[in-house]
Amino acid sequence: MKRDIHLVVLLLSIIGCSLASLALWKVMASRERALEEINIHGLNLSQALSTYSEGIVRQSSMILLGLVERLETEGSGPRQIERLSQLVSRQQPLMPQMSGITVYDKDGRWLMSSNRPIPVGANSSDRAYFIHHRDDPSREPFIGLPIRSRSNQEWVITISRRFDDAQGQFAGVVAVTLGVENFLRLFGQIDLGHDGAIGLSYTDGALLVRYPFREQDMGRNFSSSPIYVKYLVDKSVGTASFTSSLDGVERLYAFRKSDTLPLVTTVALGKSEALAAWRLEAQWSALVVCGLLLLTGGIGWMLIGTMCRRSQAEAELLVAQQQLLESNQQLARLAMHDALTGLANRRCFDDALAREIGRARRSGNPLALLMVDIDHFKRYNDSHGHLAGDGCLQEVARRLAACVRRPPDLLARYGGEELAAILPDTDAAGAASVARAMLEALGQEPIAHHDSPFAQVTVSIGVACINGNDLDNGQALIARADQALYVAKEAGRNRLHIG
Ligand code: GH3
Ligand code: MG
Ligand code: MG
Repeated sequence: MKRDIHLVVLLLSIIGCSLASLALWKVMASRERALEEINIHGLNLSQALSTYSEGIVRQSSMILLGLVERLETEGSGPRQIERLSQLVSRQQPLMPQMSGITVYDKDGRWLMSSNRPIPVGANSSDRAYFIHHRDDPSREPFIGLPIRSRSNQEWVITISRRFDDAQGQFAGVVAVTLGVENFLRLFGQIDLGHDGAIGLSYTDGALLVRYPFREQDMGRNFSSSPIYVKYLVDKSVGTASFTSSLDGVERLYAFRKSDTLPLVTTVALGKSEALAAWRLEAQWSALVVCGLLLLTGGIGWMLIGTMCRRSQAEAELLVAQQQLLESNQQLARLAMHDALTGLANRRCFDDALAREIGRARRSGNPLALLMVDIDHFKRYNDSHGHLAGDGCLQEVARRLAACVRRPPDLLARYGGEELAAILPDTDAAGAASVARAMLEALGQEPIAHHDSPFAQVTVSIGVACINGNDLDNGQALIARADQALYVAKEAGRNRLHIG
């Protein structure tokens, strides 16, 4: 039973563990899948934004290239500048992201500015892009860090080229200004959730634009960020997950370094926010699994309870069966034994006598019967009382029983104070010796009986015997033993007589 319960517990534990592991595996797999999807989404977005930014820079470079070509071939006199100004005003609507185009001479003075009149005494010789072109003969375009426009205080990024004079000497700079606001407007249209961010930086980590916009981030350098320290070292496209040093939010980053320009586009999603849908699904899964586990536990509990109850009922049934068996044995014993003396009763005697007579006939062996009667027992009762008479009867029975020792022998209470002994395979001489032993058993330690002529309890014994070939039945044998008993009584009692 205990083994069965252990098996049930083991089975339920296996089911529970399998269920929990399966659910955990499914939840973890779906988390991996969710992260993978977020990364793919981020990479695609970074690709699109990178293409957009590259396009703007490339377009600006193209415009600048045309202007430089013109300035270098036609010069930068007032008439040429005027014609240039007309060209620029035709080009500008073609590129709405462009805030303006400015031409500076070799000392940083403004020669031309699209859209607005030149401020008096305006000079940009201190700007980084101007210093870069003045000091660096490279004719490649230069992408400048975000600066505040001196004309309208807006944050702008500059794309600039230098132009040279006929002798190949530095003659000035042409710069396209791109409003940071334009980038922010586009980035703002992309739904990246509450914690999402988009960044456009130099490959050295200097930030150009970041959405959401924060004044204090402008001009910051993120070269110590894990993206630059760890990831961009050996690959130009990838994903990463870390906590932002800007606001302490853990984000999933997708980054892409431009193949041709020194630009890095970064798309970031708040990890917790991005995994919200997965978390909800995981919570539901956990709830369902907990429910199933509870159900399994409940069924197991009920099963074990039923098993315990059944086993208890079986044990009780077994006890009841045992008790019934014992009661039956007791009943059988009572049915065949005399309650007072504990000897076989009359019914048992009758059965045994019939059985032994049959056996004697079949075997041809002798069979003896002793009829024993206590002498003057009525007087004993009268003088000692009935209870003492009972005790005396018990004692006589005990002593006589001790004389009938062979297994097939049977001493029974025949009725009242009369006992009878069936002695199979015993002839008259053997029966007489048993009878004598009985007389002696009473004589050795006498039971006082003052109203008896012998002053002690004595018995008279009638002995009858048949041989195997006698045709006597039980009744005839009893009658003969009775007759012999009568003779013994008549002869003076306390003796035996063989009939
Ligand atoms: P006798 O020597 O001729 O056999 O005389 P007796 O008195 O023994 O014979 P009787 O047949 O006149 O009386 C038998 C008495 O045995 C009668 C009865 O009181 C007593 N008796 C029979 N059965 C029981 C018993 O179970 N308990 C007791 N105490 N007495 C019994
Ligand atoms: Mg009698
Ligand atoms: Mg008697």
